[in-house]
Amino acid sequence: MMEDVDDFCFDLPKIELHAHLNGSLSDQCLKKLNCMDESTKEYKRIADVLDKTERTLTECFEVFNIAHRATNTVDAVYKATQSVIRDFYLNDHVVYLELRTTPRAEEGMSKEDYVSAVVRAIKENNLEIIVKLILSIDRRHSTEESLDTLNVILKMKTKYPDVIVGIDLSGNPHEGKFNVDLFQKARDNGLKTSIHCAEIKNDEEVENILTFGPDRLGHATFLHPSFGGSQSNWDIYCKKKIPVECCLTSNVICGTSKSFQEHHIREWIKSSLPFCICTDDKGVFCTSLKKEYEMVVEHHGLEPKDLWQISYNTVDYIFASDEIKTRLKVKLMNWYNSHEDELFNSD
Ligand SMILES: [Zn+2]
Repeated sequence: MMEDVDDFCFDLPKIELHAHLNGSLSDQCLKKLNCMDESTKEYKRIADVLDKTERTLTECFEVFNIAHRATNTVDAVYKATQSVIRDFYLNDHVVYLELRTTPRAEEGMSKEDYVSAVVRAIKENNLEIIVKLILSIDRRHSTEESLDTLNVILKMKTKYPDVIVGIDLSGNPHEGKFNVDLFQKARDNGLKTSIHCAEIKNDEEVENILTFGPDRLGHATFLHPSFGGSQSNWDIYCKKKIPVECCLTSNVICGTSKSFQEHHIREWIKSSLPFCICTDDKGVFCTSLKKEYEMVVEHHGLEPKDLWQISYNTVDYIFASDEIKTRLKVKLMNWYNSHEDELFNSD
């Protein structure tokens, strides 16, 4: 069966709910977008980092910087979004994608221009993949800057209500903090919320986030008591049972999880708590959603039919309409019916 796991994990229609736009760019796309003189030493150095199929954390940070620099015009943002959507569909068989990105202003590009470019690429997508957008607030930003970003997000949400579905809090977990008023305002204006939570041990902030009760949590690495979380926060969590976006490779490379085996996903699997499998930054961490599913089989002993069930359950956690949920469930049921042999005869 193990030889077939690869094909199975590709073929299974999958839902990706935690993917940052810049971090998801492939090395080929980054090389194209960088428009650098190929004869320079700097190009060679960048190309060397991009060509690696496994990267150290320092190299990963370098790729984040390369991606940031490469997406500083409206045209580049549009092309980058197009490329990530194609990649998720063609190389990963993702059928529903929620991309996330922080609205960004650069010389000649306002935050509105940035968001419009992403939305345009999403709307022009004609592949068999449904794409929605989550806009992020960077936790390093001041309250004033974050409020400005929120106002842009709300304005763009009014303009593109069927594309922009949610808001996220992301960025360096060692800086800034969760601002409940900001997220309450977003929620009052009809946005769903996903918050990067417990990426480091920070019981006070985790309690504030859990009390607010976002629709989904990103990572939740240090939430379970056996992973350093407080029992009182775990008790709150177990009452609310908020779906967690698990990104195994990202956590292992960043060193917040000791290994694939000792990843906190095992507690969610063991106690049948809600979770989904995601990539976070597949371009930077050299992964794919297919590979993340394989990791769960390899290190957490799941069977193909469990993977199908994970993908099916994930439909309930998406930020889109009930009509889209029904469509996705039908697609997954049809797939199940035509793959019953593989799902039940795994030896
Ligand atoms: Zn993330």
